[in-house]
Amino acid sequence: MSVLRLILGDQLSTSLSSLRDYQPGDTLLMCELKQETQCVRHHKKKLVFVLSAMRHFSRALQDWGFSVRYFTLDDALTSFTEAVHCALQENTYSRVVVTHPGEWRVLAELKTLQQQLTMPLEIREDDRFLCTQQAFAHWAEGKKQLRMEFFYREMRKRYSILMEGKQPVGGQWNYDSQNRKSLPDDIQPPEPCQFKPDTITQEVMALVDQHFPHNFGSTQGFSYGIDQTQAEKVLSTFIEQRLGLFGDYQDAMKTNQPWLFHSHLGLYLNIGLLTPLQVIQQAETAYRKGAIPLNAAEGFIRQVLGWREYVRGIYWLKMPDYAKLNTLHATRHLPDFYWHGETKMHCLSECVNNTRDNAYAHHIQRLMVLGNFSLLAGINPSEVSRWFLEVYADAYE
Ligand SMILES: Cc1cc2nc3c(=O)[nH]c(=O)nc-3n(C[C@H](O)[C@H](O)[C@H](O)COP(=O)(O)OP(=O)(O)OC[C@H]3O[C@@H](n4cnc5c(N)ncnc54)[C@H](O)[C@@H]3O)c2cc1C
Repeated sequence: MSVLRLILGDQLSTSLSSLRDYQPGDTLLMCELKQETQCVRHHKKKLVFVLSAMRHFSRALQDWGFSVRYFTLDDALTSFTEAVHCALQENTYSRVVVTHPGEWRVLAELKTLQQQLTMPLEIREDDRFLCTQQAFAHWAEGKKQLRMEFFYREMRKRYSILMEGKQPVGGQWNYDSQNRKSLPDDIQPPEPCQFKPDTITQEVMALVDQHFPHNFGSTQGFSYGIDQTQAEKVLSTFIEQRLGLFGDYQDAMKTNQPWLFHSHLGLYLNIGLLTPLQVIQQAETAYRKGAIPLNAAEGFIRQVLGWREYVRGIYWLKMPDYAKLNTLHATRHLPDFYWHGETKMHCLSECVNNTRDNAYAHHIQRLMVLGNFSLLAGINPSEVSRWFLEVYADAYE
């Protein structure tokens, strides 16, 4: 009997576990939901990126011979539950399959749906991540402190990344102390990869302007990649042009330099157009070929194999209470200048303006300026979290 396979908006990967045993007669279900786009008022460029990437992925799946049922915003569906019920009315299926969602709220909805349906709903592991929830919980068990550095070393060993036998390449696990240079005036970072919006993206830009006129930022100037080929182009260009100096200038900030030597890969990793292992392996290969130094390769790989997996592990270990924590009892509201950037504090103004223009700010702007100011000013963490979730193209809870 046929299977209904629900693909969520950040699951645009051909290697997805829910696609793996697809048979002719099965249907892939994708849906643009008002609920998902309105529960927080996302940056307009983020909405263009997600909706255009979904539409391109759906088209690619159909070109490869998959049968896809795609609901657009105009179908006005309010939830994944409603989309599944609609699809089940259109055809007969024996079960529903989905890959584990990235957000607690969506998992809760799927579990409720599981109870309602008269057929099985199978939630499969999201094995695009390199550490399962169970493996992370096992690592965390009984530890007084959950230090990223120790988790990262375990991951290096488990995947044999930058290792010589049982030892780290170069004799050290971490080269962070070499990665703190400020950017000299005579070094100009390369321009970021840019892509001209095609017809689908232009349609989505018009749709976003029409449906979300009051959201942050503008659709104008949208130039992110929106499919796997373009995401891979961003990756290969990063490896060739930026990765060599990623380590040296990882902690730098400079006026009028929003992109520096960062990878700009977060949005593609998080939506599924690139996989973390693919990105890590290409960085390691560049190092093994002698094209980039070790402090660059290790510094970059630590972000993806270490921090990215660790943050996700903590999320599933501690949710749902984690989202409500406010240990320092911080109660101030988020200042208005987080939206308009008008403040005499130059670094904050620069970070907010970059964010509004690009739906992107690099890590040091997010951590040392925007995050640190919120901490020092005692701003309510749930307001801060919500702002971060709304404004960045790579942001999911
Ligand atoms: C307050 C705050 C909010 C953030 N919000 C998000 C978010 O919503 N989504 C998100 O993916 N990242 C977030 N980050 C982490 C990091 O800042 C972004 O991943 C990064 O800036 C994305 O740009 P890039 O792809 O150029 O990253 P690069 O600097 O090139 O880093 C390479 C990759 O490593 C991973 N990475 C780097 N640092 C981290 C980190 N601390 N945690 C997790 N992964 C990391 C990302 O996948 C990133 O693409 C946040 C950091 C801070 C301090």
